[in-house]
Amino acid sequence: SELIKKLNETIENVPDFPIPGIQFKDISPIFLNPKLYEDVIAELAAFSKGKIDAVCGIESRGYLFGIAIAVALEVPFILIRKQGKLPPPVISEKYDLEYGSAEIETREGQIKKGQRILIHDDLLATGGTTEAAAKLIEKQGATVSQFSFLIGLKDLKGEEKLKRFGAEVYHILE
Ligand code: IMP
Repeated sequence: SELIKKLNETIENVPDFPIPGIQFKDISPIFLNPKLYEDVIAELAAFSKGKIDAVCGIESRGYLFGIAIAVALEVPFILIRKQGKLPPPVISEKYDLEYGSAEIETREGQIKKGQRILIHDDLLATGGTTEAAAKLIEKQGATVSQFSFLIGLKDLKGEEKLKRFGAEVYHILE
């Protein structure tokens, strides 16, 4: 589509960042073009329209599109943050990284039991972060109905890790 073409021209591929061997996708040029940003939000909002009760965005690039999706659909937006950023009380979920572990949190009470949740992030790689986010939501009695990303990296098997949640998965770019 026209949107995919424009995004591919806009997102910058930076070799060997943040470490040698990694090709970093820099999405920041999207925000230099308000019309393109609007089109991205319209596309992501269309995927979720009528199917969710709230959006959870993953720190920090998940906020850049996640809040706008929530506003477009007139549903609440909930921040999933790295450990230690939100004031108590919080609900936490620990997960393993390649080396060591990390923890993500939401403020207690912001996710309501029975809500259908969209988890949004800018990019799906190994799926480790997103999987932890889904567990964090399920343990609060809500349902993960959808995952959306701007970009899904195919070769890193992130999507397979998300299958067991039984939710729809969407990304604009692959
Ligand atoms: P995962 O947990 O391996 O799926 O990694 C996904 C997380 O890493 C997301 O929060 C992304 O923002 C970030 N990430 C990983 N690789 C890139 C990249 O090339 N560009 C931008 N963000 C990335």
